[in-house]
Formats: sequence, C-alpha cells, structure tokens
Amino acid sequence: MAEPRAAFTTKAAPVLIVGAGIFGLSTAIHAARRGYTNITVYDHQNYEKNQYEFEEGCDAASADINKIVRTAYGDQVEYQEMCTEAINEWLKWNTELASGNDLPPHMSSKDRVFINNGCTSLNGTTSMHNYDIDSIASMRAAGLKNSALITSDKQDQSEAKRQGLAFAIDPFNRQKRGLPYTSLLDTTAGYAIAHKACWLALHKAKRLGVHFVLGGHKGTLKELCYKDKAQTEISGITTMDGKFHAGSLVLVACGGWTPSLVTELDGLCETTAGSVAFVKIPRGSTLFERFSPENFPTFMYKMGGGKNGGLYGFARDDRGQMKIGYRGTKYTNPTMQADGKVRSVPVTRWTRPFHTSQIPGHALNIINQFIDEELPEIRAEGLGVTSTRLCWYTDTFDDHYLIDYVPGKKNLMVATGGSGHAFKFLPVIGRHVVDIWEGKETNTLPKKNWLWRKQVMGETPYNVIMQGHDGPNVLSNSNLVSAGVQNMAKL
Ligand SMILES: Cc1cc2nc3c(=O)[nH]c(=O)nc-3n(C[C@H](O)[C@H](O)[C@H](O)COP(=O)(O)OP(=O)(O)OC[C@H]3O[C@@H](n4cnc5c(N)ncnc54)[C@H](O)[C@@H]3O)c2cc1C
Repeated sequence: MAEPRAAFTTKAAPVLIVGAGIFGLSTAIHAARRGYTNITVYDHQNYEKNQYEFEEGCDAASADINKIVRTAYGDQVEYQEMCTEAINEWLKWNTELASGNDLPPHMSSKDRVFINNGCTSLNGTTSMHNYDIDSIASMRAAGLKNSALITSDKQDQSEAKRQGLAFAIDPFNRQKRGLPYTSLLDTTAGYAIAHKACWLALHKAKRLGVHFVLGGHKGTLKELCYKDKAQTEISGITTMDGKFHAGSLVLVACGGWTPSLVTELDGLCETTAGSVAFVKIPRGSTLFERFSPENFPTFMYKMGGGKNGGLYGFARDDRGQMKIGYRGTKYTNPTMQADGKVRSVPVTRWTRPFHTSQIPGHALNIINQFIDEELPEIRAEGLGVTSTRLCWYTDTFDDHYLIDYVPGKKNLMVATGGSGHAFKFLPVIGRHVVDIWEGKETNTLPKKNWLWRKQVMGETPYNVIMQGHDGPNVLSNSNLVSAGVQNMAKL
C-alpha cells in the first residue's frame, strides 16, 4: 500500500476532486454520505451546460450515450459481486427517477439510467469463449443460475423467454442462417444511459452538499501544489485562472488525462483509444423497432478475437443512434511532454489544437464487416455508419483499476485506470475509493487489486503499455478514416 497517507484532522477539512467522470462523481457522493462536508469537484468541462453530451463538446470516457452493465465477469468473482450490488443501485436510481421526486433539470420521470435488456456474448463459433464459460460457472456458483443462460440450451431458452428476453437468444438470426449461435446470455445485464447517469450523479452529489467548479479556466487543473520543495506533501491545487485552492486531500480522477498530470503513473497506466461508430436509424424505418431496447439486446462479439474481434454494441437510443464499438486494437497517441517523456494523450473531436472525429481504417473495416455479416438488414435499408468517435480508456498493465495514494506524496490520491470496464460501477465505486482514502479493508478484494503496484519482471502483462512511438498501435501510423470516406488525416 502506498504511503504516506492523508492526515485528516476533521471531516470538514477541504477535499479537492479533479475530474467529474464516474470516478470523481461517485467518490464525491460517497464521501459526502460518509460525512465529509467540504468537497469541491473541478472539471474543465462545463457539464452544467452540456450535461455530459458528447455531441455538445464532451470527450470524457464517461460522456457517452451508453455503456455495458454486466454481472458476467469470467472468474473475477469480486467484480461480479460488485456488479450485483451496482445493479441494485442502478435499479434504485431508476425507481427514484420514476417517482418524479427531486429530478435533475432536463430529466423527467420517464427517464431511466439503466436498461435491463440482457447482454448476449457471442463467440461466433460452436464453442463459447473461455471467459464466458468461466462467467457461467462463477454466476451459477453464486446462485445466479437463471441469469447466466446458454442460448442454444432449450431449458435456458425457456428461461430467457420467461424473463421477456426471447429477442436476446439469437439477436443476429444466426440459427436461420445455419450458423452457430451458442452464446452466454447474462439476463441481469444491459446498459447505462451514460450521459444521463452522470448528470443524475452530479445532481445527487450537489444535493449532498458537494460544490462543483465546472468549465473554463476556473475548472481546469493547472498544477498540483506542495507544502515543501521536495514535493512530499500536497497543499492544494492551482487552476488555470491562477487561483490557489487549499486541500487536505487532492484526488486526481481525470481519466485519460491522468497519466500526464500525475507522471508517477508511468509504467502503471496508459491512455489508449477505443474506436466507436454510430449508425443512425431513422424514426420511420422498420429497423427503429427491430433495434429498440425492447427488441434487441446489448451484445459482445468475438471478445477473444484479437485484432479482428473485440466488438460490442447496443440497441438504438431514443434519437435512433446505434453504437458499435471496436476494442480489438488499443490505439495510442504518444506525445512528447514538458518533462521530456513520451506519454499517450487523448485526441478527440473536441481537443485542441489537434482534433479528429476519424478512427483507424482497420477499426472501421472490422465494424463494417460485422454489419455486413451479422446485421445485413442495416445494409438492406441503405444504412451504414454515419459518424465515428475515438473514446479514451485509461488502461493499467493488469486491467485492474488504480485507486490509492501516490507513493511519497502525502495527501495526493488517484482514482483511475478504468481499463474499459469501470462505468457500470458508477453508483458504488466511490465507496471503495473512500475506504481506501480512510485506509479501510484494503487487504481484501476487490480493493487489494487496485492499490499502487508495479509490473513484475518476467510476468506477461494483460496490457502491454508505454511502448511510445515504437508501439504497434500508434494512431498517427494508422490510416484514419471518416464514416463514409477513407482518407489520410494528419494528427
Ligand atoms: C470506448 C469506451 C467504451 C467503454 N465501454 C464501457 C462499458 O461498456 N462498460 C463499462 O463499465 N465501462 C466502459 N468503459 C470504461 C468507462 O467508460 C471508464 O472506465 C470510465 O468512464 C472512466 O471514468 P473516469 O472518471 O476515469 O474518466 P473520464 O470519464 O474520462 O473523466 C475524466 C474527467 O476529467 C476531466 N479532466 C481532464 N483533465 C482535466 C484537468 N486538467 N482539469 C480538470 N478536469 C480535467 C475531464 O473533462 C473528464 O470529465 C468504456 C470506455 C471507453 C473509452
């Protein structure tokens, strides 16, 4: 465990959280619930104005239309258990919204933040992916037999129908086409409506007395400030407007921007891009019903398929946007930083001075091929990918989150390293962050996995990170393309 820790004299001492993505939001909520009364969250995005809408200029990983929520976690029972707890909370959040009491601005009692339309994980062959086989064993061992269904099993098919999830058994109509359709159907699963969930969480935090400083120079971290020359004890932060803010604890939760702000993360964390494509389904089209969340599940496709697999997707949203993501290649954007070190940094449609809405041609090809093969009705309607987005993960070498004090920096913590799977825990992850800041139960899973750590020489990491300009997946070496047109772009 990292030392030294923060020395709180009172729960009224100022806590500064930088970043209002899921880690920052959830921490703020749980810290306030635990009695901390002087919490301020800073973010350079003006979320009061744009409400976490990517189209309105947000480029955080959390600012998205949807994210998978699934209990199935292979043999990682600790995440499975945490997801059961998270889903209970997601359902409570839905119930609270439905009650119409204390709604955030721009949300109504008809809004939901979690949709339980199941998640079908298809390998595309006659056998299931090992991860799914492990998930079935782990879920069944936890008494979730009726939630981890094998879609080609007759009894499990009946169970899926009983739960109103018949459409999730074979969402790509493979049986009719004579193709294997054996999959894991996690019936507890579905998706979070990400931007609305963050907006609701921000509202909850405000109701608990958390103060937010959002947007522009006043909300943007410039520098971490120390009490001493040797930089061993944090005193607070300065923001881009030149102001100093004193903090007894500073928690940096800046997603893909964190490794550049807290450079001690070198070798532990790296920022990598996922490629996302959207198919706009017109309201008048017959596909609007076919791909509604009432008729189409959340899905994962060939997750173990290396560079040619790793796809996932969702039912269309209220506006008709159907999102398909590709994670088979984790792209990097190595950039020389002020300290002379090269780190991968996010570049999106909204970053300046460099920006792009394009994604690598390989990613778009894989997504297009998937649509051609598995969702041909999209082509039959003359539809296809209408827009694309790079979305930035913060990967650790072992795929576990990173929540701890920074070694040698008293009062400084990070909560990051979501590694592509943290959104689903928005309602609960903050409780663990506050446990770690208070030094509680850090020797048990899942928290034990999230503490400061180093790669062990000779062990193969889950993610090979920090290969710099020589890495195999450097974004500027790929052929960046737009939805329709394939052309070279300069980063
Ligand atoms: C393509 C993609 C798909 C994913 N799919 C899923 C999924 O299906 N299910 C799932 O559970 N998880 C998923 N994830 C992972 C999940 O989205 C992330 O783990 C999670 O959202 C990360 O949250 P965060 O708070 O760490 O970072 P972010 O959401 O990126 O938030 C960081 C915040 O820090 C702010 N910030 C940055 N720099 C500064 C600064 N200098 N000053 C002030 N503020 C600053 C940013 O504006 C931002 O608001 C996915 C991630 C990606 C990229």
